Amino acid sequence: MNQSMKNLQAELDRRRAAHLYRSRRVTEGPQGPEVSVNGESLLGFCSNDYLGLAADPRVAEAMIRGVREYGVGSGAAHLVTGHSRAHHALEEELADFVGRERALLFSTGYMANLGVVTALVGAGDSVFEDRLNHASLLDAGLLSRARLSRFPHADAAALDERLAASRAENRLVVTDGVFSMDGDIAPLAALAETARRHEAWLLVDDAHGLGVIGPGGTGCTGQAGLGSADVPILVGTLGKGFGTFGAFVAGDAVLIENLIQQARSYIYTTALPPAVAEATRESLRIVREEGWRREHLQSLVARFRAGAERLGLDLMPSSTPIQPLLVGGAGPALAISDALRERGLLVGAIRPPTVPEGTARLRITLSAAHSEAHVDRLLEVLDEVWEA
Ligand code: PMP
Repeated sequence: MNQSMKNLQAELDRRRAAHLYRSRRVTEGPQGPEVSVNGESLLGFCSNDYLGLAADPRVAEAMIRGVREYGVGSGAAHLVTGHSRAHHALEEELADFVGRERALLFSTGYMANLGVVTALVGAGDSVFEDRLNHASLLDAGLLSRARLSRFPHADAAALDERLAASRAENRLVVTDGVFSMDGDIAPLAALAETARRHEAWLLVDDAHGLGVIGPGGTGCTGQAGLGSADVPILVGTLGKGFGTFGAFVAGDAVLIENLIQQARSYIYTTALPPAVAEATRESLRIVREEGWRREHLQSLVARFRAGAERLGLDLMPSSTPIQPLLVGGAGPALAISDALRERGLLVGAIRPPTVPEGTARLRITLSAAHSEAHVDRLLEVLDEVWEA
């Protein structure tokens, strides 16, 4: 082994010793409440398939029809010949769903965030991000070469002070809608008011809210009653509530036209397979029509929280399907996750650097595919394991 390889090995050893080593697990079969891992069937509470659509037969059929019509690959970037009728129709339907003039598909949420932030701000500009924003938003801020300021979590007053002190002409405020590792919702009305008063852009990444919360599944902005005048840049992802893959940015036509011209992660990459767009059109139809999925999910959230409270578990202030239990150390979080797995439950231990040092947690996520009995089983096993 040469020195560089030895250094890499030492880094792996260091992570393992600090309980920060990340391992993958190989799953079999479709998404659902039961996940098969290494031939063992586990009850899963860690996917983002909040509405239970990732394996919905209607969505699967739509994808198969899409493959028959369009083939498997899109063959090129959107600006070359990759932009199919399926993509175009999905963009129009998504724009209508979120009440914005237009929407633009990206291949992933990570790429949507990199693309939109770097298109809107650059050297000499400033970007203000909630400290707990998703990694893709923070990476986007760094990549943009704008001055990056991370404000205290969900603190519109702190943002106000920072905007007041900033002299940059072009300023962008960026926040998650639902925070992915905490489950709480950004104070969007206050952030929108602050951004508007300082004439700054506001971008909300509602990856975990769209389809899942708000009237008709319109997410955090729908819930807060905010339109494009308040939140001019709305990012949504399709691999969570919608159960498929990809992402979009929605906003005024002039914003979207600019992204088509400038967003590098839009321009220089292959378009999503059109069949994925066809599947998402079907899942969007279901999201709009089957409100019972959100109602059932909310009742599971309430059931879980009431039960966890009775057990004295350390809940976080979340009303969404993301219901983390704070543990603290990475070692104990991992030990609890392992103990749950021995009893047939799959729950991920989330550790630094994904969350701040000393705040390792179990990230429990609920789905409309779960039943009340599943939630009760989770509570029962948590009760057994937690004290030990
Ligand atoms: N934004 C947020 C808030 C997320 O949680 C995620 C996914 N974990 C992303 C963006 C990235 O989306 P994608 O998985 O489609 O790249």
